[in-house]
Amino acid sequence: MDKQIIDKYNVPGPRYTSYPTVPFWKNDPLWSEDWLATIQRNKAYFNSSDISVYIHLPFCESLCTFCGCHKRITKNHDVESPYINAVLKEWEMYQEKLNNDPTIRELHFGGGTPTFFAPNELIRLLQGLFKAEKVDPEFVELSIEAHPNNTTDEHLTELYKFGFRRLSLGIQDYSPVVQKAIHRIQSFDQVKAVHDAARKMGYKSISHDLVFGLPKQTLEDIIDTVTKTLELRPDRISLYSYAHVPWIKGNGQRGFDESDLPKSEIKRALYEKAKAMLEAQGYMEIGMDHFALAHDDLAKAFNSKNLHRNFMGYTTQDTNLMIGLGMSSISDSWFGFAQNDKSVEGYLEQIEKGQLPVFRGHLLSELDVEIRTYILDLMCHFETEFKSDSTFKEVHALIKKRLEGMISDGLVVLDGEKVTVTPEGIPFVRNCCMIFDQDLEPNRKLERMFSQTI
Ligand code: SF4
Repeated sequence: MDKQIIDKYNVPGPRYTSYPTVPFWKNDPLWSEDWLATIQRNKAYFNSSDISVYIHLPFCESLCTFCGCHKRITKNHDVESPYINAVLKEWEMYQEKLNNDPTIRELHFGGGTPTFFAPNELIRLLQGLFKAEKVDPEFVELSIEAHPNNTTDEHLTELYKFGFRRLSLGIQDYSPVVQKAIHRIQSFDQVKAVHDAARKMGYKSISHDLVFGLPKQTLEDIIDTVTKTLELRPDRISLYSYAHVPWIKGNGQRGFDESDLPKSEIKRALYEKAKAMLEAQGYMEIGMDHFALAHDDLAKAFNSKNLHRNFMGYTTQDTNLMIGLGMSSISDSWFGFAQNDKSVEGYLEQIEKGQLPVFRGHLLSELDVEIRTYILDLMCHFETEFKSDSTFKEVHALIKKRLEGMISDGLVVLDGEKVTVTPEGIPFVRNCCMIFDQDLEPNRKLERMFSQTI
């Protein structure tokens, strides 16, 4: 790829798991009544009781120095039970306040390390949420982020029996040098053992999460990591760009020197190499950062333009309402976002008081909702079309004007009201979204808000 183009577009920018993006949320504090009102508006607008649930399980036994998640490092497993009790109580509060019994169509355990929790605690949580011994995996999509170092056969068996069919394994990179730099030591044999056991049990969608741009990572490392990954042939592969934002995430990201990070053109070469290797073996690039084999639901959703994106990343479910439970979780009602208290203690305290633990968020304006639709289209399908009945025609004109640079660089095509990202433009889809983003003024310094787009 042309170095000049990389340099031109490699600027700090959002990953657009939400629009407006978190630094531009305006409601801080957010009152729970205002948040609940957006859920009622969602129900009236979409006329559906289907919801997605995200549960944040924040504990980890050891700190990975590249980590950007909200987590609590501890080896004390006494924290499990009170935390699960709190999540169940939070769920009860939602049911009471909404005065209905929503239908959970999708549930994801993220973290932190969900497999830090004992299998019986996870099952207790699930049975409390669903008020059932197990669920029908054809009706509810259940998935978990599993750490290869502490995922046991019992975890896999009990979750499978409950209805889980999706598993996502955190890999990052197999190089011992990189693993030492990021303080996350796990062998290929450990990953293979969990992967093979899950496959044998019948998990139908196994995903491996890889990261490029990590400290001390070389082209040989990415080739070796992708080669080993292909040996296990997961159904999905996430290939994330390492987001270096130590000023936001604190000391956890300072376990290595800035000079250990690959420069932007090398980082791009790592991605291009991995992508070429994956595509040569039948993986299809889905949206941003994701690859899937043709039989996987994510690939099918991408092909049929039914792919969606929310705080969990890309998803095949379109419920329009996601409730996030647990500390730091973000909920999304389409008309509003709400985030829970970001400390374990603060979260538990609010729940103890019988209050929804939301502390900040954003209530979307009509323009926010329209722009959000365009950005979601671009992130999921690499194309979008300006609404003909919009009342924001002057905003459309401004966006079209600002797109001219990407158009002349061959990264975007504008045909009437339709905007399409070209194959060359796909690595720069975030830059295209930034042009639609009404909160980003041209030339505004974003260094301390977001990671680099490339
Ligand atoms: S990368 Fe995962 S396991 Fe490591 S500290 Fe972060 S949340 Fe915990």
